[in-house]
Amino acid sequence: MNGPAPAPLAPNGTAAGADDPATDRLLAGWRATGRPADLTGHLRRHGPPPKAARAGAGVAATLAAVVEEAGLTGRGGAGFPTARKLRAVAAARGRAVVVVNAMESEPASRKDQFLLAVAPHLVLDGAVLAATAVGADTVHVCVPRLRHAQFQQLGAAVEERAHARLDPVRMRLHALPHAYVSSESTALARWLDGGPARPRGGTPRLHDRGVAGRPTLVHNAETLAHLALVARHGPAWFRQAGTPQEPGTTLVTVSGAVAVPAVLEVALGTPVAAVLDRAGGPTEPLQAVLLGGFAGTWLPPEHLPTPLTRRDLAPLGAAPGAGVLVALPASACGPCETARILAYLAAHGARQCGPCRFGLPAVAADFATLAAGRADPELPSRLHRRTALLPDRGACRHPDGAARLAASALRTFAEDIERHLTRGACPAAHRTPRIPVPPATPPETWR
Ligand code: SF4
Repeated sequence: MNGPAPAPLAPNGTAAGADDPATDRLLAGWRATGRPADLTGHLRRHGPPPKAARAGAGVAATLAAVVEEAGLTGRGGAGFPTARKLRAVAAARGRAVVVVNAMESEPASRKDQFLLAVAPHLVLDGAVLAATAVGADTVHVCVPRLRHAQFQQLGAAVEERAHARLDPVRMRLHALPHAYVSSESTALARWLDGGPARPRGGTPRLHDRGVAGRPTLVHNAETLAHLALVARHGPAWFRQAGTPQEPGTTLVTVSGAVAVPAVLEVALGTPVAAVLDRAGGPTEPLQAVLLGGFAGTWLPPEHLPTPLTRRDLAPLGAAPGAGVLVALPASACGPCETARILAYLAAHGARQCGPCRFGLPAVAADFATLAAGRADPELPSRLHRRTALLPDRGACRHPDGAARLAASALRTFAEDIERHLTRGACPAAHRTPRIPVPPATPPETWR
């Protein structure tokens, strides 16, 4: 696994950014060596896997208590308490299964890819620890099919562990179709059962009946890496970073108009502006920051001093989400960037539910009209009405995220929108778009 830095994994081809030893945890090995950690290097840095280091701790109740005391929450977007998931799966009947969600389908995020490239064994340690705790015999690691290098790197890490006879569970690596909603936990379970990688929604819940009808624990890659460190160092150590309510560090992918686009590890509670500064600071005056990802929220500059926590961002209708910060310069067109993202989200809906089949494409079409500067006096009220109809109606949260983005654009870019409607598209609308958005075409396959 040793080798050159996986630079292409960070945004715009740069390697992970400015150093901050105070919050270097997940990325500490990478900072120290500049190389991905193979199993030998990983064990040298972190010591033996938590199960061996803490005999007797492989019991769900014990691990859940430690994790609860640490205050660890999911780092995949929803921020669900990790201990609660562990307890729910452990309490369900039948042999459990653990799924490592390494799909990272959010186009503006690179943090899980980066973490898996430089510290794969930290993630796998966490997965094995969770599996041991909930009585699982299998760990499924799910990565997108298009990321060949990542698949090979992870395959090598899994082989190293098998060769060293390190783990008491079976580990299987899978390459799934690459669609925005395929990283949803029920989509993973559905695919592992031989179906399409589309969200399933409804009941039963995965912790009761998931993969092959067995209790299933799905955790995002970064969450499992934190779990491995909490088990090694304890809750008090974990709480040395972050806020009392939201402790620990988190990985953030910073891109857009900053000097050094990068994957950074920051303490929760760090002001959004300070995170941008860690990435070298804005290269131009900003008109907004996209926080959380494509299904996130536009924040105007006056909110940049806000601490990066769920609690502080909630009053602004925002959340850390997938740990994404995209700095949008004042020279860009906010409605146009939003229209491109919404078109992509609409194309990547699984189109099983009403809001994905009708509502989301309609909102995306309205935004395209807006971006083009076509006068339509009905447009603002129609857009507000349609956006409000999207949340809480799908079997998954995909339409909710798109609605959040659209609603925040209507707030943040209100002046530009008014101008587009009354005087046509602004000059910025004719410039090259600033946010890389994949083509707005439906996934080729769900299987
Ligand atoms: S809301 Fe959309 S993505 Fe979610 S389950 Fe329904 S059709 Fe699929």
